[in-house]
Amino acid sequence: MKYQQDRNASAEILRLLIQKMAAHPAPFTPHTYTVWYEAVAGINPALSEDISHLLEKNLQITSEIIDKLYDKHVSDDSSTMHRVLHEGIHHLLGKIAGFTEETDRQASLFGNSLQIYGDTLKQPIDAPKLVALVSDMTGDTDKMRGSMQSLQSELVASKQQVEKLNKELQSARGEALTDPLTGILNRRGFEQMSKQALADKAGVAKGLCLLMVDIDHFKKINDAYGHLLGDKVIRAIAEALKSKIRGQDSVARIGGEEFAVLLTETDVEGAQSVANSVRKSIEKGKIRRLDNLNTISGITISIGIAKYNEGATMTDLLAQADEALYQSKEQGRNRVTVHQKNSD
Ligand code: GH3
Ligand code: MG
Ligand code: MG
Repeated sequence: MKYQQDRNASAEILRLLIQKMAAHPAPFTPHTYTVWYEAVAGINPALSEDISHLLEKNLQITSEIIDKLYDKHVSDDSSTMHRVLHEGIHHLLGKIAGFTEETDRQASLFGNSLQIYGDTLKQPIDAPKLVALVSDMTGDTDKMRGSMQSLQSELVASKQQVEKLNKELQSARGEALTDPLTGILNRRGFEQMSKQALADKAGVAKGLCLLMVDIDHFKKINDAYGHLLGDKVIRAIAEALKSKIRGQDSVARIGGEEFAVLLTETDVEGAQSVANSVRKSIEKGKIRRLDNLNTISGITISIGIAKYNEGATMTDLLAQADEALYQSKEQGRNRVTVHQKNSD
C-alpha cells in the first residue's frame, strides 16, 4: 500500500538513492535504504524536510542519524499520519459548522425583519417612518451581507485546507505528487494543479497558456556522457524553468525528458517570452561533467505553446502544445512554436 512506485519509477529512485548512500557513511542496511527511499521518492514529506535541513548544514548522515530518522518518520508513520489527518478534518468541520450556524442564525433574524417590514408596509405609512424603515432595512441587509461574506471567505479557506489535507493523504498513501529527481511536480501533481487552475474561472479568463518542453537529442547526450550526466541535465532544466515562473504557475516533469509549464494570467506573447527566455538560458548554459572538470555546452530544448480556449480540457491543451512542440522539432529544434488553432 505504502510503496506504489512501479518498476521504472522505483528503478529511478534506486539510482538516485545509491548516489546518496554512497556519499554518506551510514552502512547499507535496509533501514538506511528505506530512509533514503522514502526521502527520494517524496512520499514522506516530513522525513524529506528533516533530511534537507541536515544536508543544508553539510552534515554527514551516519547510522545514528539514520536510526533517529527511521524511528521518527518511518516506523509506524501511518498511524501518526492517520491521527494528524483525522484531527485536521475534525477541526475543519467544526469551524465550517460554526460559521454555517452563525450565518443560519443571521438569515433567520433577517427573515423575521423582512416579515415585520412587510407587515408595516401593509399599513398606510408617512414619509419620515418610511425613511426610518428603509434605513433599518439597509442596516439589516448590510449585516446579512457581512455574514454571508464571512461564510464565503471561511469556505474558501476551508477548501484550501481540504486540498492540503488531500495532498498529505496522497503522500501518506505513497502517491507522490513530486518527481524524485528534480523535486518539481510529477505528472500526477501536474494533473492535480492544472485541474485546480481550470476550475478557477476568473483566473482562466485572465489567460492561461501551456508550454511543453522537450530536451533536444537527449539520447545522444546520455549515450555520449552517461545516464548520470543526463540526470544532471534534467535537473538543470527543471531549475531553469522554475526560475522563470511566478508563484501561481506550475512546472512539472511529465515524462523522462519532458516538462510542462502552466502559466496563469499570461497571454500568448507573454508565454512566448517566458519560453524564449528559458530556451536561451539553456542554450547558453554549461554543465560540468562528472568525471572531470570539463563542461558540456550546446544543450538545447524545443518548446510548444498552446493557449487555453473556453470549453477545452487539459488533455486538449496538452495535445495542442505537443503538436506545436513537434513542429519545433521538425523545423530544426532549439525553437518555440505556438499552436495555431484552425479557427484562428
Ligand atoms: P528529440 O530531439 O527528438 O527529442 O530526441 P531525443 O533523443 O531527445 O528523444 P528520444 O525520445 O528518442 O529519447 C529520449 C531519451 O531520454 C531516451 C531516454 O533514455 C532518455 N531518458 C528518459 N528519461 C531519462 C532519465 O530519467 N534520465 C536520463 N538520463 N535519461 C532519460
Ligand atoms: Mg521526448
Ligand atoms: Mg527529446
